Amino acid sequence: MNITIIGTGYVGLVTGTCLADLGNHVFCLDVDPAKIATLNGGDTPIYEPGLPELVQQNLAAERLSFSTDVAAAVAHGEVQFIAVGTPSDEDGSADLQYVLAAARNIGRHMEGFKVVVDKSTVPVGTADKVRAVIQEELDKRGRGDIGFAVVSNPEFLKEGAAVDDFMRPDRIVLGVSDDEAGAQALAVMRKLYAPFNRNHERTRVMDVRSAEFTKYAANAMLATRISFMNELANLADRVGADIELVRQGMGSDPRIGYSFLYAGTGYGGSCFPKDVAALARTAAEYGQQLKVLGAVEAVNDAQKTVLVDKILERFGPDLSDRRFALWGLAFKPNTDDMREAPSRVLIGALLRAGARISAHDPVAVDEARRVLAQDLADAPALLGNIQFAASPMQAAEQADALVIVTEWKAYKAPHLVRLKSLMKAPVIFDGRNLYEPWAMRDAGFDYVGIGRGSSR
Ligand code: NAD
Repeated sequence: MNITIIGTGYVGLVTGTCLADLGNHVFCLDVDPAKIATLNGGDTPIYEPGLPELVQQNLAAERLSFSTDVAAAVAHGEVQFIAVGTPSDEDGSADLQYVLAAARNIGRHMEGFKVVVDKSTVPVGTADKVRAVIQEELDKRGRGDIGFAVVSNPEFLKEGAAVDDFMRPDRIVLGVSDDEAGAQALAVMRKLYAPFNRNHERTRVMDVRSAEFTKYAANAMLATRISFMNELANLADRVGADIELVRQGMGSDPRIGYSFLYAGTGYGGSCFPKDVAALARTAAEYGQQLKVLGAVEAVNDAQKTVLVDKILERFGPDLSDRRFALWGLAFKPNTDDMREAPSRVLIGALLRAGARISAHDPVAVDEARRVLAQDLADAPALLGNIQFAASPMQAAEQADALVIVTEWKAYKAPHLVRLKSLMKAPVIFDGRNLYEPWAMRDAGFDYVGIGRGSSR
């Protein structure tokens, strides 16, 4: 099939590349000429395991192309995926300007029936808006006769495992309208996704609004689990219980399960914070207050400073003589994404308290430099107090304490004797509960985890 992807970011690039790998001819459009030039040069602008190889193979096979040419993009695909960003607006609602701009472009250039797919995460009711702007553009051109359908097909991939998630999805949600265009679109989408359903049927067909809602419901549930555990972890610290043992004890109940119950430094990334805010905003627009989600957000905001609080409690408010090693910058492992990363809150607070930082991350350093320059735009001199180390051990040299923010694999089993010998003092603040407190104590470390109260 001929497919067009509008927006070649994390979701668009993975979707386009994976669909090309299945034999489709995919045209990826973006407004960012630098990104398109990078991709046409065979490089991948984001870090995502397995993706560069697939991009190169499918470019070479001429099933994948990258361009900024809007008219050519609209002409190419019988299916037009909209995969542009939907960042938070000032009031927390999803900013739909990019989605609607993409839709407008489709309406301006289409010459025949198109299946327009909302792949971006968009609030309930967005498909109606997309439909309206396309129709408006068609009418302006006197081409109101051209048919089209708008499908909601939210994406559930996880950064860091995006290719695998896309190729082996838990479910494919398709929201279609209950009319002829909807039926036609459903047939096209079933054909496109047929290779994913060979083993068993993964497609869930529903009305458009339910499909749009499903994506927010899923992310809100996951964020709720994280905030729930973070709040309990803080209580575990007070009452002297170990949240890791509690997690295993409660997770063994199949109604609860083990996934997504890890206490830590709060959720970040490009999705949970904005999607939780957007769902709360949608509810408010309909006159309902989502009380649980309000608490989920408040707990998460507080959790992002939990390591700072523990550090200040130990060293006092003035950190000017202190040097901290920091392991992990990205908001989670296997990505270079720094959007809403808890490390940014931590770094800002430590630098403003006078500390020096030596940070390590396997892939996110360039992105960290870029976002930290924005975060510290009011105090750029502080950027001189953070340096980036080539290895975790180099970061630890002469550190008053090691702070772990992202659970990269490379941090899971460090050589403790060497680590201790490099540091000025053997103190670890572990924001991801990577280690057993007793093992660290045996190795001579003063170890502070999240909610490991009884084990300290
Ligand atoms: P992103 O910021 O990485 O990419 C968006 C791309 O769209 C950018 O390259 C931008 O230049 C381009 N763009 C903007 N306007 C355009 C236009 N009019 N025409 C063509 N290109 C345009 O965003 P992302 O992380 O890929 O997220 C995209 C959507 O998918 C969001 O709604 C997000 O919530 C959702 N989503 C993201 C993830 C994830 O893990 N990143 C997972 C599931 C869903």
